[in-house]
Amino acid sequence: MSQAKAYSAASATSPFAPDTISRREPNERDVQIEILFCGICHSDLHYARDEWHATMPTVYPCVPGHEIVGRVSKVGSAVTKFRPGDLAAVGCLVDSDRTCSQCRDGYEQFCAGQVLTYGGLDKHLGGVTYGGYSESIVVDEHFALRVPSNLDLAGVAPLLCAGITTYSPLRHWGVGEGKKVGVLGLGGLGHMGVKFARAFGAHVVVFTTSPSKKEAALALGAHEVVLSTDRDEMKRHRNSFDFILDTISADHKINNFLSLLARDGNLTMVGAPPTPLAVSAFALLGRRRSLSGSNIGGLAETQEMLDFCGERGIIADVEVIPVQKINEAYDRMLRSDVKYRFSIDMASLREA
Ligand code: NAP
Ligand code: ZN
Repeated sequence: MSQAKAYSAASATSPFAPDTISRREPNERDVQIEILFCGICHSDLHYARDEWHATMPTVYPCVPGHEIVGRVSKVGSAVTKFRPGDLAAVGCLVDSDRTCSQCRDGYEQFCAGQVLTYGGLDKHLGGVTYGGYSESIVVDEHFALRVPSNLDLAGVAPLLCAGITTYSPLRHWGVGEGKKVGVLGLGGLGHMGVKFARAFGAHVVVFTTSPSKKEAALALGAHEVVLSTDRDEMKRHRNSFDFILDTISADHKINNFLSLLARDGNLTMVGAPPTPLAVSAFALLGRRRSLSGSNIGGLAETQEMLDFCGERGIIADVEVIPVQKINEAYDRMLRSDVKYRFSIDMASLREA
């Protein structure tokens, strides 16, 4: 066992502060990764503030962070995928049972025995797992991803959650040429949704509540931008979308967006507002519309997404911050005041 510097929150109302956590010595199939960058996902905030108490109560102290990229510092004797010095990345999962039908089909994200990168049951040390707001992490090599060598690492980190969470449903629902696709919310997930939908060849329309993001959305690759608070702008798009990706992190009027779907159109929720949304049956049944959800992605698909990003030169747009600014970053994320993801430079933790 070794000790690692980290930033943790002691309660739902405590700010993040320096802490020390334990990491296991690498077992034979483990890789130890020195973390270089970790993205800040809105899920980190939901979790740190115990906003998902009903489904996933937070265990304190908590160390969030599941958008991890770093360099391999040690490998176990049976590791074949990595050598010390290689780049490696870790997303939302650090283990699963590997034998159930979900795992066999490549859907580790739906495995009943999955272990989340933070807040999961730590089978090795007891207690709960600690995430990427730390200087190092140890994971089984199956849960570590290879990182294309041509990409800027600060912008790679968010691909591990925001990237795969948007890539997977866009692929599943066949988004591509000839499809009209809406992206709701232009935050960390939303801006990756725009990049992927555009790369897949779709006509992309962003729905934002932030007038200041209108120009920026076009620069990201959106063909059109709609201020979702403007009724007339919304009306123009009624019954016209093949697919809508909903990344909104808070309560919102989902029926207004369901009514934008064409016949047999689908709206997939990836955003995880803490409180249930009020869905009108009439918004769905009129044109045989459907509403569904999607949760991150499996390991094979995450690798496919990273490789795709390497080929196309796709990364997240990030604002790099030192670890000492996490609390400020959370406040700004809540105000939608980031284009579009904070990425923590972990050198700031080692030097502290
Ligand atoms: P984020 O960067 O904060 O972006 C969320 C965006 O939602 C904001 O930028 C804002 O966009 C919009 N928004 C916020 N409050 C709103 C409101 N009251 N009404 C309408 N729009 C609002 O968050 P994120 O990291 O992208 O995460 C988004 C959600 O996805 C979170 O709930 C997170 O927990 C969840 N998530 C789910 C998965 C999964 O596997 N399903 C994975 C990761 C994250 P505008 O400024 O453009 O309006
Ligand atoms: Zn996330």
